[in-house]
Amino acid sequence: MTAYLFPPPEATAVAIRGTDALFPVRRIFCVGRNYAEHAREMGHDPDREPPFFFSKPRDALAFGRDEIPFPPQTDDLHYEGELVVALGAGGADIAAETALDLVAGYAIGNDLTRRDMQAVAKKMGRPWDLAKGFDFSAVISDIVPVAETGRDLQGRIESRVNGEIRQQSELAAMIWPVADVIAFLSASVTLAPGDLIFTGTPAGVGKLAKGDVVEVTIDGLGTLSTKIA
Ligand code: MN
Repeated sequence: MTAYLFPPPEATAVAIRGTDALFPVRRIFCVGRNYAEHAREMGHDPDREPPFFFSKPRDALAFGRDEIPFPPQTDDLHYEGELVVALGAGGADIAAETALDLVAGYAIGNDLTRRDMQAVAKKMGRPWDLAKGFDFSAVISDIVPVAETGRDLQGRIESRVNGEIRQQSELAAMIWPVADVIAFLSASVTLAPGDLIFTGTPAGVGKLAKGDVVEVTIDGLGTLSTKIA
């Protein structure tokens, strides 16, 4: 019998809409710049350079929370409304043509970012981990199964702060669509059921203050509403 020194961490799970089953989360991957206008607003040329990835720790996931605390060590907390892909199957070196077979469902995400800390990391050539992977930084809605959305979800994504529209795009404006994102990522790491992929944010990112309510809406998925407490 194996004895743990202390109880192992509880499984991190996200509800699946319309079922009692939970989606157990393994890893959280995020795409860097995946909308041309957002790449430009961050000072980059969005020509189709290959996508790049970072990840957030599983314990950064914030599911089922109407409110999250304003994080420490930042004066420039940003929202990033994003489509999240939930994988029900995995593999390595997946071809883009078959990549959507891995998708179990889609969710709405908010890739909260300590932009000031990220700017220092970029300038100093340091990792983004703590700029991106702080507590409650990976906000997510429940997962809508592909049986409801279709495998190739299309439509609009919109973010609002206190009711005011800040981000608006078609999902089709992604530089790298979901199938390509999965193909690229699986060339670097072996994907597995339970992996989540935040697929990047459109232009219009901006600062949040205590008390703000940020809502991200994606056609076919609904609205994810989060108050910054
Ligand atoms: Mn992002």
